[in-house]
Amino acid sequence: MKKTGSSILTRFSFYFPHEGGNLLKNCGFIKGFFKNPDEYSAETTGNCASATKGKLINSLTGQVNFVKLTCGWLNRLLPPNSIPQSPCPRCLAIMELNWFSSLILIALVANFLITTWADRLNLQALTADLPTEFVGIYDVDSYAKSQEYTRAKTRFGFFAAAFDLATLLLFWWAGGFNWLDTLVRTIHGGPVTHGLIYLGALLLAKTLLSIPFSCYSTFVLEERYGFNRTTIRTFVLDLVKGILLSVVLGGPLLGALLFFFDWAGSHAWLYAWGVTTAFIVIIQFVAPTWIMPLFNKFTPLAEGELKDRIMSYAKSVDFTLDNVFVIDGSKRSSKSNAFFTGFGKHKRIALFDTLIAGHNEAELVGILAHEIGHYQKKHILQGLAISIVHLGIMLYLLSLALGSQGLFNAFGMEQRSVYGGLIFFGLLLTPLELLLSILMNALSRHNEFEADHFAVKTVGSADSLILALKKLSVHNLANLTPHPFYVFLHYSHPPLISRIAAMRKI
Ligand SMILES: [Zn+2]
Repeated sequence: MKKTGSSILTRFSFYFPHEGGNLLKNCGFIKGFFKNPDEYSAETTGNCASATKGKLINSLTGQVNFVKLTCGWLNRLLPPNSIPQSPCPRCLAIMELNWFSSLILIALVANFLITTWADRLNLQALTADLPTEFVGIYDVDSYAKSQEYTRAKTRFGFFAAAFDLATLLLFWWAGGFNWLDTLVRTIHGGPVTHGLIYLGALLLAKTLLSIPFSCYSTFVLEERYGFNRTTIRTFVLDLVKGILLSVVLGGPLLGALLFFFDWAGSHAWLYAWGVTTAFIVIIQFVAPTWIMPLFNKFTPLAEGELKDRIMSYAKSVDFTLDNVFVIDGSKRSSKSNAFFTGFGKHKRIALFDTLIAGHNEAELVGILAHEIGHYQKKHILQGLAISIVHLGIMLYLLSLALGSQGLFNAFGMEQRSVYGGLIFFGLLLTPLELLLSILMNALSRHNEFEADHFAVKTVGSADSLILALKKLSVHNLANLTPHPFYVFLHYSHPPLISRIAAMRKI
């Protein structure tokens, strides 16, 4: 094909060895024209900005031509017949092996291996001997059942994690991130619209892919051990409400972040930090009254002996408590729990209906005292402060990462974008986040001891809380003998046996 002076658009893949020696396969559009029959001058899009030398492989004819690539421009005396005329069939942008992609890959795989290794240790720590603390509370069969439950959950967790990792790597190496970007950019709109669609599509895909797993977990695994109370209707409604809530709450916040990073220059992270902090604080206040009731029914605890005992305990520790709520946890599971949310007037203590059914009043006061301990010891405020600082650091680091072309090359992106950067930066942070979650778990375990200590001191005895926690463990088929490394990695609460030991010493 001979076209002198006119512009032609061709798409093909080119391979070029980097200075460092990594072979990079990439693809892009070449738009160019023949200066004369022997000279082709073209502009390329793609990630060839850093390449200076390379060879061009014509994917149709297999013919190789040496070309000089300079900063997005392809200038080389190419015989006209070597230019491919039609889209190349295997034209996929894949990752560039650079510092970023290597780090992310190592981190993802290491994370998976460490978790799997911890799982293995944890399973090996399951022995048939019942801990002496639980003699008389557990019978041999139920204890064996609880261990079988731990094994089944571990196996399931392994498959779910392996699937997640495999899907991510497949999508990455098949050039999925760039493919989606190209698709989204065909839609009319600016960077914020494109970002919302891009991230929304990825999140939706991730949610849809996780449905078979949550179905299995709820309707097979939990069902088999007698915990499941979720109906198909509740399951579907939860899913739909969850998605709608992400759109209504997450959409505007994400839109604001994308807007700041696109328009506010080097101070963008500060604005973004301010907005997200305001968002988190507001959510703390509105979650108990507006969001949680979308998923569960909160009923004030009925008048009677239990309420009187709870109220008089709260008064004895100077804790203003307008009301205690009962939450219909039995709608989803027979497992029981209690929790505390919100601040000031909006604070709310909720006891699962399943908890009230399984414990006597003294035990319930013990559990409640522990929850109040978290509030009085300012653990909730502490958690909030840490997440705000964490967020600020992350947003600052994000603003640095957005400027590095290497991060985008690592994912085969033809064009840089804030939304792409957001995802890739999240992956880049895998090792840091793992470290941070280990630290946060350690802090949380420390706080649990503190709340226990508060409860024992204020109730005046450790017995009711210890008995309540033992019964809870049995009821929820908790693993009584987790491996210390597993605890170090995953446990936000200390193993019950150490909690009991600590309470006995008070
Ligand atoms: Zn606690």
